[in-house]
Amino acid sequence: MDRRKILLLIFDGLGDRPVAELGHKTPLEAAPKPALDWFAANGINGLLDPIAPGVRPGSDTSHLALFGYDPYEVYTGRGPFEAAGVGITLEPGDIAFRCNFVTVDEDMKVLDRRAGRIREGTEELAKALDGIKIGRVKVLFRAGTEHRGALVLRGKGLSPRVSDTDPHEHGVPVPEAKPLVPKAKGTAKALNAFTRAAHKALKDHPVNQERVAKGEMPANLVLARGPGQFPDLAPLPEKYGLKAAGIAGVALIKGMCRAVGMDVLEVPGATGGLDTDMVAKAEAALDALGTYDLVVVNVKAADGKASEKIRVIERIDQMMAVLKAKLGPEIVLAMTADHSTPVALADHSGDPVPVTVFGEGVRVDDVSSFDERSVAKGGLGRIRGRDLMPILMSLANRAEKYGA
Ligand code: ZN
Repeated sequence: MDRRKILLLIFDGLGDRPVAELGHKTPLEAAPKPALDWFAANGINGLLDPIAPGVRPGSDTSHLALFGYDPYEVYTGRGPFEAAGVGITLEPGDIAFRCNFVTVDEDMKVLDRRAGRIREGTEELAKALDGIKIGRVKVLFRAGTEHRGALVLRGKGLSPRVSDTDPHEHGVPVPEAKPLVPKAKGTAKALNAFTRAAHKALKDHPVNQERVAKGEMPANLVLARGPGQFPDLAPLPEKYGLKAAGIAGVALIKGMCRAVGMDVLEVPGATGGLDTDMVAKAEAALDALGTYDLVVVNVKAADGKASEKIRVIERIDQMMAVLKAKLGPEIVLAMTADHSTPVALADHSGDPVPVTVFGEGVRVDDVSSFDERSVAKGGLGRIRGRDLMPILMSLANRAEKYGA
């Protein structure tokens, strides 16, 4: 069989609800978008529930589902994917936390949860924490953007069921991590020992001495939240027999790609923001399809205002016009979203999102516009996030036969 390659475009937060100021149309219904509509008209369309009908997905759980995993089976928290996003190579069983560099006083009261919005020197501070040993538990630590960081505890029998050491407010003492289940006792103990060791390693660190000398708040502690356990999941390249790469601006999404075993490609100008160079992402994806069987591109598509969202859709459309002109017949293209982010909510909702699959030999339905209302009449019907990879594998002539 003639095996195809797969280009999966995920428009982050694209789906919406009718907006009063747009005459009760959704931004996708209101925006001019000839290229997106061309793909819908020449492909097969439907609605996709990222997790399940009515479930409000996170970007992380939704990406797992779109990559073909059951998030209810492999997801315990966002920590591991953040950690993968800042370059930590995780092992099954690792417990990962999201962290902030913070400022505490001598009584360990939290003065500032962002250490005076520290931007520089966190790499050096992270080095002072990376490699600390707490008994048989090894600590891995990396700086993230600004005051953020990622902490990994590696050892036998650890559990993610511990409470945060981040009190999420100012002027209160740093809370002890508590086990939420009996078997998390050792993990809570290790995390508390790490908190003490971190304060010791950071309080007189040259970076902090310099900050204090300049009248800035020292980043003299790190506080942890959002723990998760890295699952023992089959890497995507093995699961599907695909050489896979991801293109994304946001660290969390890079982490999602890395965690499932994809290569993450850096594209100059491709930030995680709305100013991202979408055409550069499309060109990079086409290039990558020369060497990879599956390329995933994440593009941020949500914004607080309807008018802004329409502008983003127009820019996505320019990207699709480039793909329309350059896409070869050996590629199956899918476009969808990881969740709806209705402008009225400014947060993720449980509404399904449009999905379109286009390629040589793909059945075409009567849908001619890429929007929530039109695709509901399409030939894909209503599918779940986890259904997408098997559908794409089949249309790429790569699916294994089930049975004789
Ligand atoms: Zn998202």
